[in-house]
Amino acid sequence: MTGQRWLLRGVRLAQPGRPLTEPVDLVLADGLIAAVVPAGQADPSGLAPGTKVQVLDGWLVTSALAEPHAHLDKALTVDRVVNRTGDLDGAVAGWMAVDAPTRYGDLVQRAVSVIRREAAAGVTALRTHVDTGALPGLDPTRTLLALRHDVAPLVDLQVFPSFGLPITGPDGAPTRRLIAEALELGVDGLGGAPNLDPDPVAALDIVLKTVKDARVPLDLHTDETLDPDHFLLELIAERAPELGVPVTVDHVCSLAVQPAVKRTRVAQRLAAAGVKVVTLPQTNLYLQGRQQRSPVARGLTAVRDLLDAGVTVAGGGDNVGDAFNLVSRADPLETASLLVAAAHLDLDQALELVTTSARAALGRPPVRLEAGAPADLLVTKATTVQELIAFAPVDRLVFKAGHVTARTEAATTLAPLATPLQATYPPST
Ligand SMILES: [Zn+2]
Repeated sequence: MTGQRWLLRGVRLAQPGRPLTEPVDLVLADGLIAAVVPAGQADPSGLAPGTKVQVLDGWLVTSALAEPHAHLDKALTVDRVVNRTGDLDGAVAGWMAVDAPTRYGDLVQRAVSVIRREAAAGVTALRTHVDTGALPGLDPTRTLLALRHDVAPLVDLQVFPSFGLPITGPDGAPTRRLIAEALELGVDGLGGAPNLDPDPVAALDIVLKTVKDARVPLDLHTDETLDPDHFLLELIAERAPELGVPVTVDHVCSLAVQPAVKRTRVAQRLAAAGVKVVTLPQTNLYLQGRQQRSPVARGLTAVRDLLDAGVTVAGGGDNVGDAFNLVSRADPLETASLLVAAAHLDLDQALELVTTSARAALGRPPVRLEAGAPADLLVTKATTVQELIAFAPVDRLVFKAGHVTARTEAATTLAPLATPLQATYPPST
């Protein structure tokens, strides 16, 4: 994918922690940002033949978005899977109550539908978890692995099959066999939720040994509860350094209900071990804290403690239109907006969580908006980061390795005002 060459005229560059640039011209070639020059100074006649010129006066350029945590196997099943209690247990029970054809009959169509939405939003890399276990076996894993190739022009798809439950004991033998088979298929890593096993510590031990031996990344659903006694995170932080593979933990909601000293200690341990955390506001705000009317629980992890300790925290979308989350627009800018409100992040932090940090969680390099960086870019009709996150503009142009993967343009026509705007108000007579 090195064919397209672009000159983007008059854009402004937005990078977390830096002021917006003045308007610049951006040259993309060979999958990279080839040059950044003041607006109007890039001479098209000096560029390689075939360079396409796009005038985008004032539009905003950021790193492309990334989705570090999806469940494509469950997405868009809200019409057929009912969550009677509205919480995590209800979602799992609803999911388990339907048969395999209901769950997976149209997996490809649903997965591609979500991938298309994410790509249009500006996502160029996406990790999906996928269930294994007695009912689906490895069929959904195989399907998504095949899809990985087909959707590569839009997104780099990572497929992480989850350990089924239980993991431990004689009853866990089929789970362990399936995971061994999954590794033979060339998966991108492994997931699971060992804290839900009857013996969480032993289950974690099996999971860690598996990824260490197989040398594949690990991405665990962890402590997705507000019960403070349910807390496997500290043990994961302790053991991560011995593994020699990238480790990510998701949700870790119960970190938020630990005492301050413990939150800080664990956050520092995660930072030192290089464990990345994915916070998932859509699903956690939906599922968590339903039994607690007062004070109202937010259900997110301790995002600010983690950031203060230097942990790489990414923002993810998790579920899209299923029993775990009825809504979601499959747009990381929605995640960013929620993180401003629900995790009290500032705008730059929220943008970083869905761009640089989300890419880091996927093992992708950051996109620094300078010559030599990968041309994975989101270009939007916004003039500031505040507008980008608050309005999530429809008008977007997305580049993956220098190629346009999505272009969305909207046209709105409003009725005219009662009278043309006056020069001053109240108008002088
Ligand atoms: Zn999840």
